Amino acid sequence: MGPALEDPAVLERVMKAGANAFRINFSHGDREQHVRYLALIRSVAKKLKRPCGILADLMGPKVRVDAREYQLENGAEVSLVARPGDPARAEIGISYPGLVELIAPGQRILLDDGKLEICAERLAKRDKGAGKKIVCRVIRGGSLKPNKSLNVPGVSLRLPILSKKDKEDLRFISTAGFDWVAASFIGSGDDVRTIKRFMETLEFRVPLVAKVESAEAVVNLRGIVEAAEGVMVARGDLGVELDLELIPTVQRNVIMLARELGKVTIIATQMLESMTTSSRPSRAEVTDVSTAALARVDSLMLSGETATGKYPVEAVEMMDRIIRTTEINLDDEIVGISHPETIALVCEAGLYLAANSGAKVLVVISTHGTSPRILSTYRGNIPVVVACLNEDIYRRSSLYYSVQPTMIKAVSNPELVFRQLESELKAEGLVVAGDVIVFAFGHPIHTRLGTNSIRRWVVDVPSSQPKRKSKKA
Ligand code: PEP
Repeated sequence: MGPALEDPAVLERVMKAGANAFRINFSHGDREQHVRYLALIRSVAKKLKRPCGILADLMGPKVRVDAREYQLENGAEVSLVARPGDPARAEIGISYPGLVELIAPGQRILLDDGKLEICAERLAKRDKGAGKKIVCRVIRGGSLKPNKSLNVPGVSLRLPILSKKDKEDLRFISTAGFDWVAASFIGSGDDVRTIKRFMETLEFRVPLVAKVESAEAVVNLRGIVEAAEGVMVARGDLGVELDLELIPTVQRNVIMLARELGKVTIIATQMLESMTTSSRPSRAEVTDVSTAALARVDSLMLSGETATGKYPVEAVEMMDRIIRTTEINLDDEIVGISHPETIALVCEAGLYLAANSGAKVLVVISTHGTSPRILSTYRGNIPVVVACLNEDIYRRSSLYYSVQPTMIKAVSNPELVFRQLESELKAEGLVVAGDVIVFAFGHPIHTRLGTNSIRRWVVDVPSSQPKRKSKKA
């Protein structure tokens, strides 16, 4: 989400083109903008009657340079100092005084997402009482704009995982109506738990996505994926912290691990980067999007393409076309993963029944949101419609693989719910008379018992009469 989508008409076209979740990035903008974006997304989604998840992305422990502009000449000497900097003396102010203690001579330091590079040569004293400075040589120079990022590849900066700003943002996020939180620069499972504990103090219970974007996160991957509900391969910062050629391997490992543990996966950054300024993507970008779809990840994310780009609608349309075309050619495989929940056995049975009895769709009636999450982890080809009583589950489920949420009203007779859903699916063209639907639900319906029953249902056959046999059953 960004300025390129501020016009409601454009946002509407983007949703119609297939965007069903939005990220609001707390590294940018102010509170007024975040509130405005949230309201705008909600109102367009409501108008279109679409489920739409909104993810709040915390800035996290990121080091930045100060608000001045510097010209860095290749081979010249520059210094990093705790604020304030001075362009005339080639002293760049940085937001983290503790950095001086962590840098050894020979350390590469990247600026502005790696566009510029300097190398530490020595530590020196600044003027009297002004502390130490890191004297560096410019390796890849250029214009360093205000507030740009500073990365030290391979070095753990030991910044607290939640800054003062993150905590303030989380306080706002917890009451504003977000569906997911994403946390930047997660280094370990403990980082995830620290954030969750803070969210718990706010009584804020939405799922957490850990962004994998550092060498430390790659080392501690299993602990992170185990602790979080989802994981994002944040390839922007990852490509600064690690050698670029490692990104595909890390991406594959994250996808495999998240799948093994049943966690949500998001692939992010530069998916259709050239569409920021061009109406057509490169062949390599199309292949990148298709490769992620082939790996059956839950979500693919666009950043600058839709936030500030010239072709936001075209970018979403293009991504949607690539995903759909790739999925037509995916084999129908149900990938079983072991879930500890008993509900999972019923969900799995429903999925197998649907797949093997020629059903067009599996409908799960969800009271707590557990079943749609589990069903999405099987990565079946059959569409899963999740019928929700609760708006939070309706919106949250939009990030899940192959899950299409819909809202229903609470009624005590399950027959009525099945009928209501049958007509809705017919109206949407998902089923016609004679098609089979499999329902998975809790009995008695809408209770806390969770999913424990399956029903095979033939469209347009009165339930008191024997059902027609489907071709395969
Ligand atoms: C990334 O680094 O790829 C990312 C998604 O995070 P951000 O957009 O916050 O830099």
